[in-house]
Amino acid sequence: MSEHGTDDSATDSSPRASSRSPPPCPRCDRPVVRITSTGPDTHFASPCGCRIGRLEARKLR
Ligand SMILES: [Zn+2]
Repeated sequence: MSEHGTDDSATDSSPRASSRSPPPCPRCDRPVVRITSTGPDTHFASPCGCRIGRLEARKLR
């Protein structure tokens, strides 16, 4: 019995479809990956560091 040894190391690098692209900053239009909140009405977009309003922060979350 000749075993058909297909020893292909399956490349497991399936390109992940970016589930969610970061929303743009309302100030500088750069992608916002996270919101830093230092108070109820004080929010900063990261990594650009722009200060954004409460409603804007809520929209970006
Ligand atoms: Zn910004």
